[in-house]
Amino acid sequence: MEQTFIMIKPDGVQRGLVGEIISRFEKKGFSLRGLKLISVDSAFAEKHYADLSAKPFFNGLVEYIISGPVVAMVWDGKNVVKIGRTIIGATNPADSAPGTIRGDFAVDIGRNVIHGSDSVESARKEIALWFPEGVTEWQSSLRPWIYE
Ligand code: UDP
Ligand code: MG
Repeated sequence: MEQTFIMIKPDGVQRGLVGEIISRFEKKGFSLRGLKLISVDSAFAEKHYADLSAKPFFNGLVEYIISGPVVAMVWDGKNVVKIGRTIIGATNPADSAPGTIRGDFAVDIGRNVIHGSDSVESARKEIALWFPEGVTEWQSSLRPWIYE
């Protein structure tokens, strides 16, 4: 099975969207492997978004991510990286379809509520960065009801 890194950004935490967002991943059939509420500093946020360091919005993005606690999670399931991105919706909420998290709960690109890894390789790096202690191995008893 595949794993992805999902983070509820500070606006999602402040707006009380944690339960709703976790619920969408749970109801889809994915399994939670790691979960923590954590505040990060700018050096950590810069590391997480290192690929975007040349972008004009980079400093604002780092300020946004360190502005309050975030919920860091690891989810497990078949094609969870790609399907996770679909559940989240397009980067700019103006283009995110209704029914997606950003489409339903966000307006501005710089306050788009949630992060999800964009590839299996990014997921591997992000999980290692956010969960150096490792994640929890377990198997949901619902598995045969979700996978044929
Ligand atoms: N972002 C922004 N302005 C932009 C593009 C991106 O503020 O013009 C922020 C936004 O919060 C986005 C994050 O930077 O979620 C990371 O950008 P990326 O292109 O990786 O989008 P994502 O993978 O989050 O959809
Ligand atoms: Mg990205």
